Amino acid sequence: MNPFENALEQLARAAAVAPVDTDLLARLQHPEREVRVAIPVRMDDGSERIFEGYRVQHSSLRGPYKGGIRYHPDADIHEVKALALWMTMKCAVANIPMGGGKGGITVDPKQLSKSELESLSRGWVRALAPILGPRVDVPAPDLNTTGEIMGWMVDEYNKITGDKTGAGFTGKPLKMGGSEGRVLATGLGGFFTFDALRKKFGIKEGASIAVQGMGNVGGNAAKIFSQYGYRIIAMSDSRSGIFKEGRLDVDTVLAYKNTNASLKGFPGARGISNEELLEVPVDVLIPAALENQITASNAGRVKARMILELANGPTTPEADDILFRRGIPVVPDILANSGGVIVSTFEWEQNLKRQQWSEKKVLEKLKKIIVAQSGIVFERSQALRTDLRRAAFLVALGRLETALKKH
Ligand code: NAD
Repeated sequence: MNPFENALEQLARAAAVAPVDTDLLARLQHPEREVRVAIPVRMDDGSERIFEGYRVQHSSLRGPYKGGIRYHPDADIHEVKALALWMTMKCAVANIPMGGGKGGITVDPKQLSKSELESLSRGWVRALAPILGPRVDVPAPDLNTTGEIMGWMVDEYNKITGDKTGAGFTGKPLKMGGSEGRVLATGLGGFFTFDALRKKFGIKEGASIAVQGMGNVGGNAAKIFSQYGYRIIAMSDSRSGIFKEGRLDVDTVLAYKNTNASLKGFPGARGISNEELLEVPVDVLIPAALENQITASNAGRVKARMILELANGPTTPEADDILFRRGIPVVPDILANSGGVIVSTFEWEQNLKRQQWSEKKVLEKLKKIIVAQSGIVFERSQALRTDLRRAAFLVALGRLETALKKH
């Protein structure tokens, strides 16, 4: 399952539902630039190791390239290309003035010491600085990259280029020019999307929720949904999961994972595998970890009444078809997890204007965008009698077509 092929397939499927400019489609099938770099790192034992890093600049039709950097042993150029294409679509669905890009390093960060991780992160910036910049390409965090890592990166970038705006990277710590609300943004944006759409699919307040992934996105989403009165009944991390019929206390689960590094042995809940988590009887399933989790082989067994994609690319095109036939709506990643890039764009704007907005202002602006765009995507899906993913792609494609005509 090559994620870039899946992304192209999604593009083709949307274009089969309504007319799309063929020049635009050809542009989007070919990232504007793909770069692979070798990053030498002096390890703590004195040896040198070379890591492979990537940046894919997919489309600048609507603004500077924007997208996170992923650290993962399975990260490769195909995955980064897919993620970059989705960023182009996501920024267009959110209607923010950004294009799409993505970066990565093939590495298991858990195997590195903190100083090795810092050298690697600074090395990625040194290798790619000539093609980055506040008006050119603005990276952010993704899987296994944190505010602290963004802090090292922006510091390295500023040293190399003399940039004083700090707008070259987003998702930075507050004291380094980060924005209020950025840490919560993806999970909270997911909640706003869900809340704008749930009634249309008959999901009631207090419904049950299962969350795969407990990082920035999944952990915060679980907290936010439970604060709004929803019942979290299943959670998982990369190693294992837990299920409890009534509800899990999310803060206790997160604290347990922090202390024990895993959910194994969590008292008062049944241990389940990650695969089982996707098939538990639940109102809303939230994949918030990796791509290709819901596939042709398990989509028939999903019991959720609605899927809210907070990870990028968790559902394959074949699984989309099965779920559509079964009447299970999938709120697509390019809409549901756009909160992160929306608040990243607010951070970029604050840096360029030398402003610092309050958390209240940031979250109100976020909510306004997400609620409006969720409504537009839903209406388009109704008008075309198609699923929300095709509808979201078509909303994005319409905006990209307008940009292409202006170029
Ligand atoms: P993270 O590194 O903070 O957390 C990832 C979580 O997923 C961890 O809890 C990890 O244990 C878990 N995980 C890893 N492999 C797993 C597996 N095989 N099964 C179940 N769980 C697994 O990363 P994140 O920033 O929370 O990103 C999660 C997803 O959300 C990714 O798909 C990312 O691209 C997407 N996303 C992130 C942001 C953001 O702002 N951070 C924005 C939009 C989308």
